[in-house]
Amino acid sequence: MAWMCNKCQVEVEEVDDIQIFFKDLSLPEATGFRCPNCGVEYIDRDFVIDQLASAEQMLEGK
Ligand SMILES: [Zn+2]
Repeated sequence: MAWMCNKCQVEVEEVDDIQIFFKDLSLPEATGFRCPNCGVEYIDRDFVIDQLASAEQMLEGK
């Protein structure tokens, strides 16, 4: 299913280098979608939840 940019009404591109910032954590680059026109990024929500969960586990382990 193709995603559309809400603003530009163009199809967004799939990319795998989206930077996620969550508090002070630096997370691995995420797979998501980016609008080629305005650059807005859309991230797969399940992927982010996954990454945050493992980042929290890492912190708790120390
Ligand atoms: Zn756009």
